[in-house]
Amino acid sequence: MKIDTLCVQGGFQPKCGEPRQVPIYQTTTFKYDTTQHMADLFDLKAPGYFYTRLANPTNDAVAKKIAALEGGVAAILTSSGQAANFFAIANICSAGDHVVCSAQIYGGTFNLFNVSLRKMGIDYTFVDPEATPAQIQKAFKPNTKCVFGETVANPSGVILDIEKFAKLAHKNGVPLIMDNTFPTPILCRPFEFGCDIVTHATTKYMDGHSAQVGGCVVDSGNFDWEKHADKFGCLVDPDPSYHGLSYTKTFGKQAYIVKATAHLMRDYGSIPSPFNAFLVNIGLESLHLRIRRHAESALKIAKWLKAQKKVAWVNFAGLPDSPYHKLLKKQFDGPAPCGVMTFGIKGGREASIKFMDSLKVIGIVTHVADAWSCVLHPASHTHRQLTDEQLKAAGIPPDLIRLSVGLEDPADLIADLKQALKKV
Ligand SMILES: *Cc1c(COP(=O)(O)O)cnc(C)c1O
Repeated sequence: MKIDTLCVQGGFQPKCGEPRQVPIYQTTTFKYDTTQHMADLFDLKAPGYFYTRLANPTNDAVAKKIAALEGGVAAILTSSGQAANFFAIANICSAGDHVVCSAQIYGGTFNLFNVSLRKMGIDYTFVDPEATPAQIQKAFKPNTKCVFGETVANPSGVILDIEKFAKLAHKNGVPLIMDNTFPTPILCRPFEFGCDIVTHATTKYMDGHSAQVGGCVVDSGNFDWEKHADKFGCLVDPDPSYHGLSYTKTFGKQAYIVKATAHLMRDYGSIPSPFNAFLVNIGLESLHLRIRRHAESALKIAKWLKAQKKVAWVNFAGLPDSPYHKLLKKQFDGPAPCGVMTFGIKGGREASIKFMDSLKVIGIVTHVADAWSCVLHPASHTHRQLTDEQLKAAGIPPDLIRLSVGLEDPADLIADLKQALKKV
């Protein structure tokens, strides 16, 4: 099936007489007739559901659809994008391990890594995604367990060269994990360029209506954990907390996601409500139509902004003179990477704030990537906790406005931008 069909029909095939929409299994638990049957489920010997923290049929159907869209073998839903990125790392890293990470990432992820996971003993080296392979190679250490980056960095819009990072990761015997939230698999499928594991904040375009907070981790099944058993004993060696079971020997290509379920979800419990998974699925059914419209409207608006005298700069990979246009053409299906762009107003921080406060149709919200157009000033909002130096490293000048182009008529959005520019 082509990707547009998978958006609608992937992950769930009702049999004759069954509901056509994914049913919401709003239940904590599942009933069995014999003690032995349930014991086998606990031992992961038989497939089946027993407790929603570990697995739920609604969540599973939606995870399967996202796995199909990415071209992966398995996926797990989490209660937020933050939880997805935490799980992706914590599934293979523990105290004493090290991660090579692009410096151009979402502020929440940066804080999770640089503060919270550091406190748990996981060390990070942040690298400029545009550095040469030789420069990035210097960041690797004997205890490096993975490489992390974002396909389209939030908010800087930097597009990561997936092949460059995948080659470096594999040369060092570790997987590449990419947060693919902004393009979604409709516009970019990182597995096709060598990435091994993908994460999502389903909170954004996948839901698309700002109705729920959620996340997802997808495994391509391509990374050979057993070949690098010295580094990934957690997946290869017998797990004493699971009766001496080896995830790779028992579950093959599903090993990484089964471990995330049986170990991380069991212990940390960041499971989404089945109702939220249902909402994500409603969003996925139209994702292919929505994300293309978001990208097309954003390109129109980026071109318009670029022609305005009061606009200092516009950063959007869809613009032909963007330094990321070449990577866009190579890695993305479509004329733009998503509906999110950044720009600055001449006059710096104060002018940008005045401009934002003058908008009427476009709202100020701490969100992106849904039907309603909105703006945010990262230096005052999402990235408040960063020092000026960290802001610079994350590619966020103080005048930067992040604009998320929604599904309204672009002519109405341009009219709103125009009247706000007049007030500056
Ligand atoms: C929003 C976002 C996250 C975090 O997702 P939440 O659902 O808010 O926890 C992670 N990565 C990226 C790229 C995001 O845009």
